[in-house]
Amino acid sequence: MREITHFIDGASVAGTSGRYGEVFNPNTGEVQARVALASDAEVANAVAAALRAQQTWALVNPQRRARVMFEFKRLIERDVDSLAELLSSEHGKVIADSKGDIQRGLEVIEFACGIPHLLKGEYTEGAGPGIDVYSMRQPLGVCAGITPFNFPGMIPMWMFGIAIATGNTFILKPSEKDPTLPVKLAELMMEAGAPSGVLNVVHGDKTAVDALLDHPDIRAVSFVGSSDIAQYVYSRGTAAGKRVQAMGGAKNHGLILPDADLEQATKDIIGAAYGSAGERCMALPVVVPVGKKTADEVRERVLAEIDTLKVGLSNDPAAQYGPVVSQAHKDKIAGYIGLGVEEGAELVVDGRGFSLQGYEKGFFIGPTLFDHVKPTMRTYQEEIFGPVLQIVRAETFEEAIALPSNHQYGNGVAIFTRNGRAAREFAARVNVGMVGINVPIPVPVAYHSFGGWKRSAFGDANQHGMEGVRFYTKVKTITARWPEGAVEDSAFVIPTMR
Ligand code: NAD
Repeated sequence: MREITHFIDGASVAGTSGRYGEVFNPNTGEVQARVALASDAEVANAVAAALRAQQTWALVNPQRRARVMFEFKRLIERDVDSLAELLSSEHGKVIADSKGDIQRGLEVIEFACGIPHLLKGEYTEGAGPGIDVYSMRQPLGVCAGITPFNFPGMIPMWMFGIAIATGNTFILKPSEKDPTLPVKLAELMMEAGAPSGVLNVVHGDKTAVDALLDHPDIRAVSFVGSSDIAQYVYSRGTAAGKRVQAMGGAKNHGLILPDADLEQATKDIIGAAYGSAGERCMALPVVVPVGKKTADEVRERVLAEIDTLKVGLSNDPAAQYGPVVSQAHKDKIAGYIGLGVEEGAELVVDGRGFSLQGYEKGFFIGPTLFDHVKPTMRTYQEEIFGPVLQIVRAETFEEAIALPSNHQYGNGVAIFTRNGRAAREFAARVNVGMVGINVPIPVPVAYHSFGGWKRSAFGDANQHGMEGVRFYTKVKTITARWPEGAVEDSAFVIPTMR
């Protein structure tokens, strides 16, 4: 069976722990490879390689580091078809969506190509008599990234693109469910001219994550995954003195005001709810129509769209979404659908019975729709992360805005309306980190920053944009003078700028 190995110090390294994880083909349900799970010692080897590489990488001038990013971008574009196929074969998302996954990561690499400009410091001439003050941003050292299964291209690139461009070296611990693409990215980074040890990939589970969190030579950890693990990573990493940003789960709401273009809003919601089988932290699994008339019309339109929706193999160009990532995840989603019925929500469309002829063991779930979901229900309060859309009816704008604002998660939210004033008020008041106005999936562009609020993110720094540059650098401020003439007396009071 194919074995997915670590990538350390510029070379493929077989696992020595004796522990392996299974990597499935979600279309067939079969195991297609096994992935080595790292021990503490293997993580320590990767950190040692990254530490050695960092001494010289930090001294490479920013323009040259940017050239590596330009070349990396060219190589990804050269190989995008095979990379997307690979991504789909382990994740299950359709190939066009895998290309989007890779493209959104590449946009962060494009941002990182501008790193010479982004790293420019500040300078004050004459802050005091003959005194100049300037500041510079320096790399932290060795940084680590721990990533989820659902964006194996984009999320690693969010992290290592900026970390490496700013002069750090990096250890990526990708999801053990779809680990092959991240290794390919590291190989391409070497081909692009990054020296060995600048980008390492260590596969693993909790053992590897803990080893990274505890290792004294790792200065910063970026995590994306579910909220309980995010909180754990944040607590353990910061307790070990590291800088940590940890993004968690989500339950994004799409409000539809009565004046919205309902045809467009429904199409937007369908794509955002069921695309990638709902396995996106910026999916839109909750729709909140305001008023009964809006709700009834949205429901009818959603039903009509579901009728034409095609679920299929991840490599079927006609399919709109493919299987979910694993049998365990499929069972979890099916469990939530059962719970929704028990809780008293109306199950309008049930995707549990869906099966594809010849692929009966594939991890498929059909589009599922609930109406009359109540905020007190567990299926509303928790993240399902599957192709399940819930309609929560609201009578008024106030009732509607309170739903995402009071929810435990605060990643993304969208409002559909033709009323600019209502949209503006909504954006200002809603207690959520990323807002879309007639935009169903408001993932910010690479030069802005990505991050949710409440239990969707732990730590202060967002991903990419200037927040990313700040996260992966520390500021040094220099106060300089060049005395001449008579020797001055010692000063025993704190110097001030009078
Ligand atoms: P997950 O939390 O199971 O895994 C994420 C990472 O943590 C993986 O690398 C995994 O190996 C590691 N991990 C798992 N269990 C661990 C443990 N007990 N201790 C230490 N490390 C552990 O998440 P997932 O299922 O891979 O991804 C889906 C989740 O990620 C969803 O909750 C989704 O909302 C979230 N997500 C959030 C964002 C965001 O930016 N907010 C983006 C994408 C995904």
